[in-house]
Amino acid sequence: MKLSVDFHFTASNLQDYLTCERRFELKAIQQCQWPALPSQPVQEQEEHMRNGILFHQYVNQCFLGIPSQNISDLIQNTSMLQWWNNFLQTFDDQIRKEFIAFEHTLAGYLDEFSILSKIDALRVKDQQWIIYDWKTGLHLPKAQTMQNKIQSRLYPYMLATFGAGLNNNTPLQADQISMMYWFPEFPNQEIQFSYSKSKYDEDQLFLKELMAEIVAKKPGEFYLTEQDKNCIYCVYRSLCARGSTAGDYNDIQEEDAEQLLDNFLQELDIDQIEEIAF
Ligand code: SF4
Repeated sequence: MKLSVDFHFTASNLQDYLTCERRFELKAIQQCQWPALPSQPVQEQEEHMRNGILFHQYVNQCFLGIPSQNISDLIQNTSMLQWWNNFLQTFDDQIRKEFIAFEHTLAGYLDEFSILSKIDALRVKDQQWIIYDWKTGLHLPKAQTMQNKIQSRLYPYMLATFGAGLNNNTPLQADQISMMYWFPEFPNQEIQFSYSKSKYDEDQLFLKELMAEIVAKKPGEFYLTEQDKNCIYCVYRSLCARGSTAGDYNDIQEEDAEQLLDNFLQELDIDQIEEIAF
């Protein structure tokens, strides 16, 4: 399979491949837009996703120096206000000073494969580099679910490999790095994983083999998942003859939430999200 010149492997498209090869082919290679609802009720889904995007924007603006009270004054939605207050209570002024990068893209090549990741925030505390990812899902996932996500392997790997620019051009050691998922809905139940040299070596091999496997496939060799549950929130259900009824958004778990957000962002005209004016 020949990848387009502007194609990058990301946590999102690699996770799609691991969940369902066909989904990866339809979405990442063929860029197939399929007119179906991934979940319902639609209104709740859209409101929740917009809140998730806005939460990321508010946090970013706060880190960039906008007074948190100005942001608080803007928020009218009660769920969002609760998330925002949880954020401010967890990350007070002192803690926020330890964050050194926000919405930061790490990119490079692994063998001939272009790979990219965008981290929400990066904190340095006691020589430890903590990658933060804000997860705004409705349900608290199990630690094992988060550990199984390719993001938990890719992001620390990317920081160790391509993060020297953030550290005065000195490469970071894998055991200085950890990955933290923080949930505004569940502010005291963060999930953190430490990284290590042995994990780094394992991940490097895994990622190279995975990307080589993908590019070696020909059209027609991307198979449909055998796990029907992976299809419940997938927009290609009717195309794959895996049912036509959209899944219930209120039941959605972390495994599916990410790809829904991905679809939502692809379809969203970013101008539809209200600007944050100060
Ligand atoms: S509906 Fe199921 S089989 Fe089809 S692309 Fe989606 S996850 Fe894969």
